[in-house]
Amino acid sequence: MKDWAADWEALKATDPEVAEALVGELERERGTIRLIASENFTSPAVLAALASTMNNKYAEGLPGRRYYGGCRYVDVTENLAIERAKELFGAEHANVQPHAGAQANMAAYFAFMQPGDTMLGMSLPHGGHLTHGSPVNFSGKWFNVVGYEVDRETELIDMDRVRDLAREHRPKMIVAGATAYPRHIDFAAFRGIADDVGATFLVDAAHFIGLVAGGAHPSPVPHADVVTFTTHKTLRGPRGAMILSRAAHAKAIDKTVFPMMQGGPLEHCIAAKAVALKEAMAPEFRDYAHRVVRTARALAEGLRDEGLRLVSGGTETHLALVDLRPAGVTGAEAEAACDEVGITLNKNAIPFDPLPPATASGIRLGTPGPATLGMDEPEMKEIAGTIGEVIRAPADEEVKERARGRVADLVARFPAYP
Ligand code: PLP
Repeated sequence: MKDWAADWEALKATDPEVAEALVGELERERGTIRLIASENFTSPAVLAALASTMNNKYAEGLPGRRYYGGCRYVDVTENLAIERAKELFGAEHANVQPHAGAQANMAAYFAFMQPGDTMLGMSLPHGGHLTHGSPVNFSGKWFNVVGYEVDRETELIDMDRVRDLAREHRPKMIVAGATAYPRHIDFAAFRGIADDVGATFLVDAAHFIGLVAGGAHPSPVPHADVVTFTTHKTLRGPRGAMILSRAAHAKAIDKTVFPMMQGGPLEHCIAAKAVALKEAMAPEFRDYAHRVVRTARALAEGLRDEGLRLVSGGTETHLALVDLRPAGVTGAEAEAACDEVGITLNKNAIPFDPLPPATASGIRLGTPGPATLGMDEPEMKEIAGTIGEVIRAPADEEVKERARGRVADLVARFPAYP
């Protein structure tokens, strides 16, 4: 067995600057409250697999069909990841090699579309991801993208509008899924529209897949042709991604992941993905997923009690999108003020935002991190109260000192990597 303590001593001796930054990051993660909706605390078991010698192995191809010798152990871990993903999500096929969510989407798109084809995706200012057709991303540059939006009144995805756009533009692919949308998505309705116009239906489940694993969110798998997701957000695994699909699409997807988009798979990450999936299959993960949703609701309601407005009126997922205009501050100001007291969150555009994205009228907050540490509804009420006070008086040193004290108390009671 590797001697991790000796590895650490070797790193300190070889490169003290990097070692110091790693310690700094660990202390930062221990000392702050993590409300970034796409971040989490992976387990020591996942981190151990990531820091393993599987980093050293080239393994182009798939288990049993590699272009390199010496693949017997990476075949074991990759097969475990594939089989666990299929079992956990009830999928017919899984490709566990995508390096990240963007690569998973790229590979999945190219399994069904050629450059110039039309795709329908959620527009970025309304909560969609860059890879859903933003003009600065490969998706917007290579495909003819039609964007759908949320309804101005309800701030929910306007399914009538999605149907009208699909009928008008006849996309090859329809993409559902988002990066800043606090509500369930009606997968069955999307499926109906895709069938109506003969489109492939892809769900990008990057944000909520861990909730699906834990039974705290509807599954897109029965409805979609393809489901892509990242493994490092609510799923609490290593950085990376996967693609689930119906068996009929297996060959096309495997070929676009490799050799079209990627070279050698990151087998240490794949081993860590297998570990994360095993953790997500355990009964405790169900408790975790439900705690994430419960705490997100408590945090959102607490912020509403502080006089802020919740986009769409609330949340059914792991995240809340908050309109700060009632408090007269911008997203950038709130992010900076919270950062000063040890609460990490991000500014975010709200639908129909009058401000540019670098300033933004809103913040996005999520609870995958705090829920991993065991925080629950009472702690969320306390955090919401602290955020409310800080953003109302960002220059008040007394308020900030009090907030820092509360943060210190919370992180001491719910330590990360004790
Ligand atoms: N899809 C969605 C919905 C996301 O939110 C993200 C990242 O935030 C991605 C894809 C891209 O994932 P990655 O950053 O791993 O490329």
